[in-house]
Amino acid sequence: MATNEDNLKKIISHAKEYGYVFQSSEIYDGLSAVYDYGQMGSELKKNIKDYWWKAMVNMHENIVGIDSAIFMHPTIWKASGHVDAFNDPLIDNKDSKKRYRADVLIEEHIEKIRLKIEKDVAKGIERFGAAFDEQQFRTTNPNVLRNQVKIDEINARFKECMNSEDLAGVKTLIEDLEIACPLSGSKNWTDVKQFNLMFSTEIGSVADTANTIYLRPETAQGIFVNYLNVQKTGRMKIPFGIAQIGKAFRNEIVARQFIFRMREFEQMEMQFFVRPGEEMKWYEYWKEQRLKWHTALGIDKKHYRFHDHVKLAHYANAACDIEFDFPMGFKELEGIHSRTDFDLKQHEKFSGKKLHYFDPELNESYVPYVVETSVGLDRTFLAILSSSYKEETLEDGSERVVLKLPAILAPIKVAIMPLTRKDGLPEKAREILDNLKYNFNCQYDEKDSPGKRYRRQDAIGTPFCITIDHQTLEDNTVTIRDRDTMLQQRINSTEITALLNEKLDVRKLLG
Ligand code: ATP
Repeated sequence: MATNEDNLKKIISHAKEYGYVFQSSEIYDGLSAVYDYGQMGSELKKNIKDYWWKAMVNMHENIVGIDSAIFMHPTIWKASGHVDAFNDPLIDNKDSKKRYRADVLIEEHIEKIRLKIEKDVAKGIERFGAAFDEQQFRTTNPNVLRNQVKIDEINARFKECMNSEDLAGVKTLIEDLEIACPLSGSKNWTDVKQFNLMFSTEIGSVADTANTIYLRPETAQGIFVNYLNVQKTGRMKIPFGIAQIGKAFRNEIVARQFIFRMREFEQMEMQFFVRPGEEMKWYEYWKEQRLKWHTALGIDKKHYRFHDHVKLAHYANAACDIEFDFPMGFKELEGIHSRTDFDLKQHEKFSGKKLHYFDPELNESYVPYVVETSVGLDRTFLAILSSSYKEETLEDGSERVVLKLPAILAPIKVAIMPLTRKDGLPEKAREILDNLKYNFNCQYDEKDSPGKRYRRQDAIGTPFCITIDHQTLEDNTVTIRDRDTMLQQRINSTEITALLNEKLDVRKLLG
């Protein structure tokens, strides 16, 4: 059976072979944890962004989008707490010299215990079938309970250490749990240290007047410092949201696992401004909405789960992640945070400007509370790519690799193929393509046999292939082949646009 690692390797090599993702600076042996998106990848990324923007901005009258700069006044990062507290606890293994995030080592240990519970549950289901009462088993089985207690104890200890900044305690926890370096198997660890994740550079051309500035580690602060500009110029009334898609930079300690953890990545964030005291209602609302956005894509719901934060960030009064079952297991895909009025109050304090909102309904002025939804574009890309990748054996015994991407996200929507390169078929095919290309991203393909062309389109995830044959010249009909069912249908070429519009209608996902 293929291991998770094998699966990830396959996806990485498929992504490279078909122009989805390349290692950055590859001819110079690459740059660690930085990736480039190729001709297919950039289209998929753009389509994910459009799908998010549509759902968040276009579908909500009270949400608008902005595009703020990556460089910002350095005091912003002082106010937000990033200069002092945007740290990850790092630990080195003395034998392998490998660096790890202490919190991730502990989380992975917990995940192993959790998998034991799941294994026991799976055994029960296998043994007792429909008669198995999973709920009862989870709450009464001694093995399950023992493991759950272990998990709770580890979480509680870790939380206490982090809250009291007891880094020695984190090291003791790692030692007590007998966590070994996955590479060397050794338990010979250094002390735990805090490491700031922000990249800095200098602004200004004259060295002695240059100021240190940071590459933003999140897009959210660009929204906070513009919130009154948008509120006033857009005449926004609370509750309202501001959305943004953009690059963020973090000097990650452990940067493995392909585009899951990069040093330069993109976020799609929305900050929702609400009345103080109403934040928990909106927090629940956005949890539900965001999960719906993911599952509407048609990926198996089993791949998603919520994970409540054990240690809340300094700005939050409630926080959870939507986790996705990536090839390397369940990991964070999106964060949903109730950020209170922390950020705006801090910016008031550090800038000396009033950031109050006057609520005409309450006839009162206050600093709004904020609920944030923050999803990684690259992680969404990886979630979609990895769950779409399928190796199939066909009825005739041949094999195909197919990317069953949600059709609305597929880079190429339709491939146009003349059956042969003669008899006027290419001309007819181009005529059809010239008509479709205004509305759909098309690819013209006349090389090799039809079978090979289908395999090529399957591998890049093109949902529809249109073949132009001799009959087309007689009665203007074409065949349209569906990527997933591989069934072909003969339709009049005048019906193609309507059929594609129907199949690619985003209303089906967001309606
Ligand atoms: P993690 O615990 O995995 O480091 P985080 O909790 O620090 O993530 P947030 O600060 O909540 O992440 O950022 C919001 C989203 O941005 C994450 O859910 C993730 O999808 C994305 N993200 C964060 N860091 C990275 C990264 N280094 N590479 C790619 N995406 C990232």
